[in-house]
Amino acid sequence: MAIYLDNSATTPVRREVIEEMMPFLESAFGNPSSIHSHGTRAADGVKQARERVAKLLNCSAQEVYFSPCGTYANNVAILGRARFVEANDGGRHLITTAIEHPSVIGPAQHLESRGWRVTYLPVDRDGIIALEQLRKALGDDTSIISIMWANNEIGSLQPVDSIAEIAAEREIFFHTDAVQVPGKLPIDVSKTPISALSLSGHKFYAPKGVGVLYLRQGENVMPTAFGGGQEMGIMPGTESVANIVALGKAAELALAEVDENISNLRSMQKILLDRLLPVEGLRITGPADMERRLPGHVSIAITGAEGESLVMKCDLKGVSVSSGSACHKGIIEPSSVLRALRLPDAEARGSLRISAGRFNTSEECEKAADLIAQIAGKSAKVSGKA
Ligand code: PLP
Repeated sequence: MAIYLDNSATTPVRREVIEEMMPFLESAFGNPSSIHSHGTRAADGVKQARERVAKLLNCSAQEVYFSPCGTYANNVAILGRARFVEANDGGRHLITTAIEHPSVIGPAQHLESRGWRVTYLPVDRDGIIALEQLRKALGDDTSIISIMWANNEIGSLQPVDSIAEIAAEREIFFHTDAVQVPGKLPIDVSKTPISALSLSGHKFYAPKGVGVLYLRQGENVMPTAFGGGQEMGIMPGTESVANIVALGKAAELALAEVDENISNLRSMQKILLDRLLPVEGLRITGPADMERRLPGHVSIAITGAEGESLVMKCDLKGVSVSSGSACHKGIIEPSSVLRALRLPDAEARGSLRISAGRFNTSEECEKAADLIAQIAGKSAKVSGKA
């Protein structure tokens, strides 16, 4: 049986989630905007899902907007807020980091091309920003801060509570990409003055193609796409009802199971690291202190190895993992995240990410770690000879 250890890329859809969404594909398939009973059943499904997500985040249901995916939620948070800032003659300065997902880097670069000033905060060797550097970067024109909660490639956790406090003191809109977080860390927006937060269903056992933008009451964003006015006009388009219902159920499970998940994921993370770290030429990327790292997430670099080739070798032996180094035009290029860690290229090219999830077992982690250690050991040695 193949072992799937790429849960940061995507997760399987849970049985409970499939069961909950099926009626909305078969009988309650109406358009939630229709006033007949098929429509109202669909609208009730969306309403319940909104309430479940609100419980996960500890916010009110009116602050939850369903989106087509995490990418779209990030785009609306940044570009929709930027439109609002521009319409109100606000300062055109965005602060983000060098290690954001492309769905944040992309909008940031787009704003830059439209004349905005953008600061990409550097990170330390663990992939974490310095609050002092954030404070220094703030200017009178700073109107948006977008800093991810948990990094998908290297598992680093940013000090989101402190960032939110700094932003709130100056009344700056603070968005966080929390796509990797549900079910792995508690989220409570009533305790932290985050203005906006993005989620994606397929990272926590709902299907691909549905996400959430949380937007604190009183915080405005303007539409970036135009249509039928769904989701208060900021995410127009007929609601993907079954997917939304699925995400709602997944949110309910993520909330109920977060403590259990954290303890299981931490113990699998330990098994993986205990078996991998002794390998010569192998080092952890991102934080070695597990308190500063996403539970279940392990990322490593093997000197002299090539990430994609490691992934293929693991796959041939029945283990699915991923790499942050990809082949572009015949040359292995480390990702921008790995570059931001300032690792030597010979290390960064041999990156591997192993991300455990709810359905992995300790035995699978032991087996996979032994296999990866073997492959990594050989790859490091081969290149050492060359
Ligand atoms: N943000 C982070 C941190 C992610 O890991 C991902 C997915 O890889 C996204 C955003 C994008 O989410 P989606 O795949 O739903 O567009």
